[in-house]
Amino acid sequence: MSIQFGPDYVRAIAPYQGGKPIAEVAREFGLDEAKIVKLASNENPLGMPESARQAMLEAVADIGRYPDANGFELKQAITAKYGVPQEWITLGNGSNDILELAAHAFVQPGQSVIYSQYSFAVYALATQAVGGRAIVVPAKNYGHDLAAIANSITADTRLIFIANPNNPTGTFIPAADIEAFLKVVPRDIVVVLDEAYNEYLAPELQYESTAWVREYPNLLVSRTMSKAYGLAGLRVGFGIAQPAITDLLNRIRQPFNVNSLAQAAAIAALNDSAFLQKSAQLNADGYRQLTQAFDAMDLEYVPSYGNFVLVKVGNDDGAGARLNLALLKQGVIVRPVGNYGLPQWLRISIGLPEENAIFIEALKKALA
Ligand SMILES: *Cc1c(COP(=O)(O)O)cnc(C)c1O
Repeated sequence: MSIQFGPDYVRAIAPYQGGKPIAEVAREFGLDEAKIVKLASNENPLGMPESARQAMLEAVADIGRYPDANGFELKQAITAKYGVPQEWITLGNGSNDILELAAHAFVQPGQSVIYSQYSFAVYALATQAVGGRAIVVPAKNYGHDLAAIANSITADTRLIFIANPNNPTGTFIPAADIEAFLKVVPRDIVVVLDEAYNEYLAPELQYESTAWVREYPNLLVSRTMSKAYGLAGLRVGFGIAQPAITDLLNRIRQPFNVNSLAQAAAIAALNDSAFLQKSAQLNADGYRQLTQAFDAMDLEYVPSYGNFVLVKVGNDDGAGARLNLALLKQGVIVRPVGNYGLPQWLRISIGLPEENAIFIEALKKALA
């Protein structure tokens, strides 16, 4: 009999399934890497901003030294951009780090964590990793049902994850609804408001969650440099919360969780509003391109506020996997979402116009 290590709740974790890397698909299907289109991980199709590349090249000179453990200059850039005090900021190795730090800091084994059906996979992983008890609240129209979430709070609830916009469904909760929700959640339960796709929101939908942080001591806003800012490979994100929360997160994070190149690139990207604007415009155009094609093909999709679209590719539970394989064979990588309980759907990240066009043609072929 082999020895079993660790607690049951760790052995029960199903590993995170990411988008397939381009090199792996090229090997598996005998394709030319250069011709593969990857629309699978909600990355910025423009890649990184040139300003970030330059900042990293300069920072390379000092790579023999440890990074600034407190990320002073990066926090200054965040302060300048978002108008929050430095004591409110926790830097993370991607915002994934912030989500995990929150689970570690606030949840003990057996205590409950609430998140929505069809919400970001990392909420389940972070909960399981600390032995938390997940309360998964049924989604409403593929998005968060905040009233049901509030009604699901139990005496031992320590943490609630909300994604706005949500991944993988792309749904959006209007600011007024979130604020009404924050009002009713007991102040000793931490609410993580995960805003990974905030930069893609149209101006009329933008809201100032940082203002809510001042009012709600139990609110932790999470942001990432991986999506609109184009730095997914570097792993930088940050949390914004009052010091009572921020202090705890900073005690348990790795002292050097954000490396020097990442810090330098993030500062440059935060200051590069032209790149952000270009990314948002490209995304809006690509959304129109994809959804017009879906309309023409009579395919159902969930209206999305992020940089991706969830589209229904069939009425049987094999449809997502089948269409995914048919697309892979044509060199197009998208994201099957069967692991989210959406086996009839695929999630398509919005790419460059030519990438979107290649995907649309491949999808037509695959459905024919
Ligand atoms: C992509 C994503 C993140 C985090 O990405 P990082 O690269 O770890 O910053 C967080 N939340 C949601 C909902 C996401 O889709």
